[in-house]
Amino acid sequence: MDKKQLETFKEALLKEKENLEKSLSKIARPIDIKKGDYQTTFEDLGSAKEDNATEMEQYSDNLSVEVALEKKLQDIIAALKRIEKGTYGICENCHHEIDLERLKINPSAKTCIKCQ
Ligand SMILES: [Zn+2]
Repeated sequence: MDKKQLETFKEALLKEKENLEKSLSKIARPIDIKKGDYQTTFEDLGSAKEDNATEMEQYSDNLSVEVALEKKLQDIIAALKRIEKGTYGICENCHHEIDLERLKINPSAKTCIKCQ
């Protein structure tokens, strides 16, 4: 992979990272922003039974979204670290280069198509 391609992937990763952080900030608060560690916020709507039920429902919805977003964010952070280390685009499993087309679809891919 040449420098220009690497730059393009880096930009795509940073953009997606920003979007994910924005979405996460609506439903969670950061514990460790560098690691992409977040905790779902719990909104206190009131102490009535109905309020508590709504709170729980909202919380569990947010929690599942938060877990999915957090996982994506951590994959992106890991990919950005691989760019710094110079190991980006190399399959973690078989150590061969990951197909560029695969990286274009998923810039945070850790493995090649064979090893996925
Ligand atoms: Zn592989």
